[in-house]
Amino acid sequence: MYDSHIHSFFSGDSESDAYEICKAALDKNLKGIAFTDHLDIDYPNYDEIFLINFDKYHDYIKNLKYQQRNNIDVLYGIEVGIQPHVLEESLKIVKKYDFDFVIMSTHIVSYTDLHNGDFTKNKNKFDAYMQYFKEFDSLIDLFTEFDVLGHLDMIRRYGDYVDKNIDIEQFKDVIDNILRKVINLGKGIELNSSGYRYGLNSPMPSFEIIKRYKELGGEILTFGSDAHFPEHIAYNFNMVEEIAKSAGFKYVCHFEARKPVFDKI
Ligand SMILES: [Zn+2]
Ligand SMILES: [Zn+2]
Repeated sequence: MYDSHIHSFFSGDSESDAYEICKAALDKNLKGIAFTDHLDIDYPNYDEIFLINFDKYHDYIKNLKYQQRNNIDVLYGIEVGIQPHVLEESLKIVKKYDFDFVIMSTHIVSYTDLHNGDFTKNKNKFDAYMQYFKEFDSLIDLFTEFDVLGHLDMIRRYGDYVDKNIDIEQFKDVIDNILRKVINLGKGIELNSSGYRYGLNSPMPSFEIIKRYKELGGEILTFGSDAHFPEHIAYNFNMVEEIAKSAGFKYVCHFEARKPVFDKI
């Protein structure tokens, strides 16, 4: 099994040594891992925390890949946080380096941080979730240089709502739009197990969205822990595997040189 969403010390919000991550992944008997450090250009209230020194990152991960070639498959990836006004700059970086894997995420909507609760403050749940999904939906029309969408319903993590879950029927049109676009583009989505670490009792996206993706013809699904610490590598992967199987998936993917490789589950 591969963990396709991991942050190391090249991300401003992680101090994990990439070598220690390899050791932790080996302990968990993983076949491979993808480093997907953060690129979030123009992150509100942070000047440089979500930017990467790409030349260093590239050389470090490629060296690690060579060093670990007999132990574990090390893949070179990136998690690109997209906003409408940073598309061109983000695209340049994605195209400049020989990434194995590109995750596209939305961490900021309307210049407002999801993470610190600013976005959901003073909004009812329906409006906040709808605005988030619509933003993601429109960004897929503008930025297609990605392999999977990151943590598709991550908006559930934020906000003080009593029930953070999504009634998929309320958002069916926009969620279907997103999933259909992804499928038509030949791209995929990830099943991100960090929801379990953030008290959601489910991965992101939730089972209902994964099931819908499969029903619409989606085949490309990656597993990612979104670990920022070595101990979170492959966190609850037994549970995400069960969810993928229950949704009808027989294969899960990892990416090499931007191409999906299917692994039986
Ligand atoms: Zn993310
Ligand atoms: Zn991440």
